[in-house]
Amino acid sequence: MSKINHFIPEHRIAYFTMEVALKSEIPTYSGGLGVLAGDTVRSAADLELPFVVVSLVSRQGYFRQEIDASGRQIEHPDPWEPSQWAEALGAKIAVKIEGREVWIRAWLYVLQGHMNGAEPVLLLDTDLDENHADDRMITHHLYGGDEAYRLKQEIVLGIGGVRMLQALGFKIRHYHMNEGHSALLGLELLQSFAHPQEDLREGESPYNLPRVRDMCNFTTHTPIEAGHDKFSYDLVDRLLGEVIDPGMLRSLAGSDCLNMTRLGLNVSEHINGVARKHAEVSRRMFPGYHVDAVTNGVHPFTWTHPAFSNLYDQYMRGWCHEPGTMVRADLIPDEALWQAHVEAKRQLIEKVAAQRSIHLDPERPILGFGRRMTGYKRPDLLFSDLRQLKKIAEKQPFQLVMAGKAHPHDEGGKKLIETLQEQIRTCVDWITMVYLPNYNMDIALAMVSGADVWLNTPLRPLEASGTSGMKAAFNGVPSLSVLDGWWIEGCIEGVTGWAIGPETESANGDDAVDLYRKLETVVLPLFYQDRSAWIKLMKGAISKNASFFNSHRMMRSYTTEAYLR
Ligand SMILES: *Cc1c(COP(=O)(O)O)cnc(C)c1O
Repeated sequence: MSKINHFIPEHRIAYFTMEVALKSEIPTYSGGLGVLAGDTVRSAADLELPFVVVSLVSRQGYFRQEIDASGRQIEHPDPWEPSQWAEALGAKIAVKIEGREVWIRAWLYVLQGHMNGAEPVLLLDTDLDENHADDRMITHHLYGGDEAYRLKQEIVLGIGGVRMLQALGFKIRHYHMNEGHSALLGLELLQSFAHPQEDLREGESPYNLPRVRDMCNFTTHTPIEAGHDKFSYDLVDRLLGEVIDPGMLRSLAGSDCLNMTRLGLNVSEHINGVARKHAEVSRRMFPGYHVDAVTNGVHPFTWTHPAFSNLYDQYMRGWCHEPGTMVRADLIPDEALWQAHVEAKRQLIEKVAAQRSIHLDPERPILGFGRRMTGYKRPDLLFSDLRQLKKIAEKQPFQLVMAGKAHPHDEGGKKLIETLQEQIRTCVDWITMVYLPNYNMDIALAMVSGADVWLNTPLRPLEASGTSGMKAAFNGVPSLSVLDGWWIEGCIEGVTGWAIGPETESANGDDAVDLYRKLETVVLPLFYQDRSAWIKLMKGAISKNASFFNSHRMMRSYTTEAYLR
């Protein structure tokens, strides 16, 4: 019997997301957004919230990254076999794309919580015999292809997703759109709740927008206008045809083009940004909308190295269910905490040696930097002034481990990766640096737990939240970061880590100077000269930040602010 039956009876919250990081071996995610989606479901499972996830199967994955001898990113397909992890469900539904019926089935992946709960994850798949060869590829490549390909994927996700839930017999009490990719679900809901034509008075709209809005909430993640999906109405007409009245569509999604973010905003009662600052930036970008903040968090068990979870089990029992208990991190004996860190660091050093044949020194501090490689993240900020950098490293040596993928279409990001490889060669005599290829969840955990300091240097105010620094906090690793995104809320200078520059949005130009100053006069001296003060800092990161910036707290907020409103 199919495992799906177990999940049908209870009324559920449907969480729609283009990408979701279920585990390292399943490449249905590209980076932060997908990992956040994964942590969302993991917490929903632990908290036993009635949830169901709708996403795409992305059979060819995002891509596997290789860095070639000249330092360039090479993108390989990263296929996976759904049948190895998931169950093919019998139900099939169709959506019309470009005038053709496109048949969709779903794979059921059961996400087992760390405790009792489990959540169904539906991965939509168009690779079926009955489909036209072109249509079979719609769910192959995550973020691949051109605009038309993207719109087809969003039709499958938003419209196909709602129909699939219905076909499987799910009773949905609420819809959560994780970013604009799934906003077409709003159109499908409007259509399905529409009053029949014969019941309408002359000129009356058939649509029940308040009812749809009441059931939906929308989370925006992108503080850059250009980052929002927009499609010309020509393309929409050609691929999607007329789902709802064209006038209604334009009033919801924009008059000159279909803006997925606008659509998401207009069909949702509750709208949120992913940190306080990001909500403020979003309100500026979308005047007239009420945008709340639900600050992101990371999943406790997933992002804690076993050496630390053992300690937490001993000194802060129940932390996995109620991470708020981590405010008591002071109870952990200093030496035990340090030994856990030594163990995590040893494992990172081993991983680096195995993958890159470079030997890091366990006695010297390791700075970690891992995230998507793209212009606004400024992974090259540390290399702004090589003379200065050399001067610092010669007196107080440190090491650097970096990783991250650039989106295949992001030429700037790919160029940055090349530049970083060049810097690594230039600085080889005075800083040991490595770039680990193919950043994924496993490498992320090794880095956020094995580094001594977690570095983040985005251009304000473009880091909507950032989550890797929260993962570091779960492993007692302090952040050294520009005050943007979550760090505005998480930074207590000298207690949880350190700020680079002030909070002012225009301060970006002076960040390199401040980064060097902090490293040279605060961070490195503390590491080398005062072990006990350093351990106090580690406890500050755990007690003040892990206790709050976790996805259990985030999901409890979504429940009271959005789902149960
Ligand atoms: C956490 C994570 C990210 C996001 O990192 P940010 O610092 O928030 O940009 C990206 N990729 C992977 C694999 C991650 O685990």
